[in-house]
Amino acid sequence: MRSLVLVGHGSHRSGDAAAPVYALAERLRALNAFDEVLEAFWKDDPSLRQVLRTAASTDVTVVPLFIAPGYFTDVVLPRELNLGHQGPVPPEGIARVMGARTVRYTRPFGTHPAMRDVILARVREVLPDLPAVPEVGAAPDVALVLVSVAGGDPHAHGLEAHAGQLRDTGLFREVRTVAAPEGEAPGGAWLEGLTAAQVVVVPFSASDAAHTRTALPARLGLPGPVTALPGGPTVQFTAAAGTHPDVAQVVLQVAADAHSGAREGDAERAHHAAWDALRTLVSGEARIGELLITPQHGVYEFRHALDQGTPGSELTTIVTTEGLRDHARTDDRGRHRPVRTFRTLPRGWRAVIHPAELRRALHDVYPAVTEEAYAHGCYTLRATPWPTTARRQTGSYARVQKAGPDVLARVTRDVCGQCLRTPLWAGEKLPRTFLEGVPGAMPCAEACTYLIAHVREELRPDAAGHVQ
Ligand code: SF4
Repeated sequence: MRSLVLVGHGSHRSGDAAAPVYALAERLRALNAFDEVLEAFWKDDPSLRQVLRTAASTDVTVVPLFIAPGYFTDVVLPRELNLGHQGPVPPEGIARVMGARTVRYTRPFGTHPAMRDVILARVREVLPDLPAVPEVGAAPDVALVLVSVAGGDPHAHGLEAHAGQLRDTGLFREVRTVAAPEGEAPGGAWLEGLTAAQVVVVPFSASDAAHTRTALPARLGLPGPVTALPGGPTVQFTAAAGTHPDVAQVVLQVAADAHSGAREGDAERAHHAAWDALRTLVSGEARIGELLITPQHGVYEFRHALDQGTPGSELTTIVTTEGLRDHARTDDRGRHRPVRTFRTLPRGWRAVIHPAELRRALHDVYPAVTEEAYAHGCYTLRATPWPTTARRQTGSYARVQKAGPDVLARVTRDVCGQCLRTPLWAGEKLPRTFLEGVPGAMPCAEACTYLIAHVREELRPDAAGHVQ
């Protein structure tokens, strides 16, 4: 039995940042190569600090859905996953035994040599006649430009390695790498010296968040995604390499390389015990937070507890876990819910869930609460006190270490006051959880990144650079 965890950056402000991760997870589930595929985010729910506990197996592979190595993949993600590693990740990844689980953390998918074929697939979307192999006697008349959308050194981002592979195909007259400037740049100096009649630009990015076919041409000094330059080549931009459907195969290859013939895992016992307890709870009508779960004719009906008694015909019916997840990610006013346990679950819907999908459906509404509530009841959920969480923050987040008790208390009151969870990390007590008959009671073992971000905002440096 094997679990795959896909990790994305996410955003506290918008659900859009998570969309490519969810889309890829669905593609990978359809390929059935893993017993389960889970998502986790640094700045969204499900969060990194919880995700490993939600894996059903003892064999977990974590793939960062990042296009290139850097601060997040080398520092933030290993730290938040508690891997005890900081710095560049070797090609074979990192393996750690964590409790009953073996966790394999890989390099970001964008570094894998198989990305060569993904880039070629992007090129063929705009040049369908590109041959599979170089044509004998005909010199290629296409130049390929790989753009590091995040900017920075293409060598450091691994882009030059892909460029080398693509030169070796012989399909292109020239292959070049370019770092995109931050803002819009005049002219197109990056095109100088290219002699091919066609130039294809492939944005090397994990998502299209940088508007790779609209804003990116402007950043590179061109008016649009297809530009015929007077007396020069025709330049065409493709969509981002990292959003191509074939990335699913690359992720599987990355995961296979990290596993390299190791024995598969088993069902994780504590995890299964937690879900047995949950199934017992929902064998009758049960309230979990703002959610009401009712067994009905061989399925479960989920709805907001305040909609109890509303005729089903007056509610929007949802029949897939993806639909339920997307519904639960925004509140009644359509605003993103970065913490799913905020008391803002939208009303006016009912979801019909097959028993085989119960776990995923509840995880989509309230990620990790079953596993954590069960662990709390078994006295195995260890709270991480605020000073420990604060001490491990880096970069611009390191200033949260300066938060005094008054600031922390104020932010905790304001942020956690909206949340169903009880902040055990702040010293609060939770005698019983929803698994033990208190519907709204859920433990929080460690400050979430949303709270940390709010503490950081409270400590903005003043004009003189001093943190109040
Ligand atoms: Fe909720 Fe506060 Fe815990 Fe965040 S830190 S999950 S807001 S209780």
